[in-house]
Amino acid sequence: MTNSTHRDDCRLCGSKELDLVLPILPSAIGDDFIPAHLLNEKQDTYSLDTYLCLGCGHLQNIDIVNPDILFRNYTYKSSVSLGLVDYFKQYANEVVSQLHLPTDSLVVELGSNDGSLLKAFKEKGLRVVGVDPARNIAAAATTAGIPTVPEFFTLQVAENISTHHGKANLICANNVFAHADNIADIVKGIRHLLTDDGVFVFEVSYVPDIIDNMVFDTIYHEHVSHHAIIPLENFFNALDMTLFDAKKVKSKGGSIRGFAQPRSTGQRAKSKDLLAMIVEEERRGILQPKIYRDFFESIEKRKKATLNYVKEALAQGKKVAGFGASTTTTTLLYHFELQDKLSFIVDDNPIKQGLYSPGAHIPVLPSSALQTEKPDLVVILAWMYADVMINKSQAYLEAGGEFLRPLPEVRVVNQNGMRELK
Ligand SMILES: [Zn+2]
Repeated sequence: MTNSTHRDDCRLCGSKELDLVLPILPSAIGDDFIPAHLLNEKQDTYSLDTYLCLGCGHLQNIDIVNPDILFRNYTYKSSVSLGLVDYFKQYANEVVSQLHLPTDSLVVELGSNDGSLLKAFKEKGLRVVGVDPARNIAAAATTAGIPTVPEFFTLQVAENISTHHGKANLICANNVFAHADNIADIVKGIRHLLTDDGVFVFEVSYVPDIIDNMVFDTIYHEHVSHHAIIPLENFFNALDMTLFDAKKVKSKGGSIRGFAQPRSTGQRAKSKDLLAMIVEEERRGILQPKIYRDFFESIEKRKKATLNYVKEALAQGKKVAGFGASTTTTTLLYHFELQDKLSFIVDDNPIKQGLYSPGAHIPVLPSSALQTEKPDLVVILAWMYADVMINKSQAYLEAGGEFLRPLPEVRVVNQNGMRELK
């Protein structure tokens, strides 16, 4: 397989009527921060053009980077923070009590990573099986007592699991459900593996929240589907699955936790929350291009104001840096055309320090570099953490430093206070 492929039909309904509503500029693979000894290897950029299907209303990327490049060596993504362990315990408690799962239930997780969530289910007495294509992480999870299949989840993998472990009462997928190009095969596998009254629970970022919270930078190469309820429900129905509940959750700038069951055998009634979300999606017109074109226009306004300010600073001989080294900041950096304008990026994650940004190879330094390198302006690429960053950087501001937060509105903060750029 080549490094990327381009499909010409909708991932959910097969329609070829695809409208390019968010022409986000190409970027390198968002999380491919590299060490110094790899700097002479060129890192390619790939399309992030985002299309709306005029057949079913599904928002998606159709230029697909080879998943072996994206997911097989997920080395830097395995570390689970302490906060997440608590989140997983809470998640397991909520789901087990909401769905009244018997104690000998089988729970299967797709994209199970190091097994942290399954561990929380196991501690509640349930049987667990993980599936994760990152072979090194899957092997480590298995050794640690969470049996993990080192593959991408497919119908065939589902058949193997049901042969060896029986049917699953619960299948979970957090975020991976938006990652796969061949989502139909995944849902066929889920349908096969679930018991008649089993439940599939998944978290995905939610299109209306992407728009409302301006988080266009959650669009990156791993993340090829951007879900809303209406297109997803039509897709599920065609594969004998149906949604019965959805809740908003805060992760990734706005997501939903969706609950689906076999359509022909599931007994759970559709929740009021789910029905209300469908009504709201219709009211807002999320199946039509207009809302996306308006969204893109507002992104472009902020890009222009940010870029003008940065160019002006550079023209005056000022030193400009960035804050935040992550997948989302790579999308932002490239789309706002800042990749050749920053001297360095600061980030307090020690895993990223000493590495170089994907493609553009901007060095990543600890935030103490604000004192030692004294940049005149810092663009807050990880803008959702802007308040935290500004609050802990008072010494930098008092020494004459300046921050620019590019989204949701463009703001400049220095020792004279805050002002908005239009
Ligand atoms: Zn479609």
